[in-house]
Amino acid sequence: MNLLRKGIAICLHLWTSRPVLTTLAVLAACTAIFMFIEWRQGRSWRRYFTRAVLTDLEYAIFYIGGFFAAIWYPLFRLFDYLVRTSGFQSFALLAPFHPAVHIVAFMVVTDFAEYWKHRWMHASPRLWPFHSIHHSQQTMTLLTSYRFHFVDEIFNNVIRFAIGLIVGIPAAAFLWLTALMTIYQSIQHSDLGWSFGPLDRILVSSRFHNVHHSAEPRHFLRNFGLLFSVWDLIFGTAVLRAERPARYGIDDPVVPPSFVSQFFFPWRRNRREAHAPEILVDAAYK
Ligand SMILES: [Zn+2]
Ligand SMILES: [Zn+2]
Repeated sequence: MNLLRKGIAICLHLWTSRPVLTTLAVLAACTAIFMFIEWRQGRSWRRYFTRAVLTDLEYAIFYIGGFFAAIWYPLFRLFDYLVRTSGFQSFALLAPFHPAVHIVAFMVVTDFAEYWKHRWMHASPRLWPFHSIHHSQQTMTLLTSYRFHFVDEIFNNVIRFAIGLIVGIPAAAFLWLTALMTIYQSIQHSDLGWSFGPLDRILVSSRFHNVHHSAEPRHFLRNFGLLFSVWDLIFGTAVLRAERPARYGIDDPVVPPSFVSQFFFPWRRNRREAHAPEILVDAAYK
């Protein structure tokens, strides 16, 4: 009973804390703005009121509301300790340089590592079921940016924290960059069809990332970049100036619709395929 009371108290404290309330307010405001823009482009706002988008909302609550932090608590505590004791200056390879250099170096190195991590998630038969959760959404909205299996997200966090510690970035800058990146990825996942024109060769626009989610075979395994599209250009995986995809999502694997079943899906899928290894990943995703 005591444990239950304690749990409820922690939840109440968290859900009335400023960071959670601010994030929820920003998310609600962005959702309203994007719904309006999409409505002006002739797209129905009704597509937000579907089972699939509700699942994305459950992912948002999972990440914003502290449930994700609870799952990766041991790692979270370790990173939290390192940040508090060193302020992301453990190795501080760029110590002689201005903090702005640290921030730019952190963004470039992290994005480069995440580009390759992303390609790995698509290439590995064992990891693809985890990342396929993100690609299973057929209705792209800003909430799709939260639809990540927690294992996928733990990989991202380990990369960001490790590079933050090696490069040496001010802790406050790390938090701001994380917040800005969250908003930026919300724009990328909205079905706005926005392109940055010539800047699409450097930065990932909504149009550029929409191609990565396209269900058309000619778009498979393209546009892996998160912040910078330049990696895709260098390594030959870029599709620029593409039409807005007609359809989003994947055919294989068939991902269950609910948050809870998706939580266990990758392990179930891998266990099942271990007994039938001939078709683990669709040929297009190898
Ligand atoms: Zn992907
Ligand atoms: Zn995406």
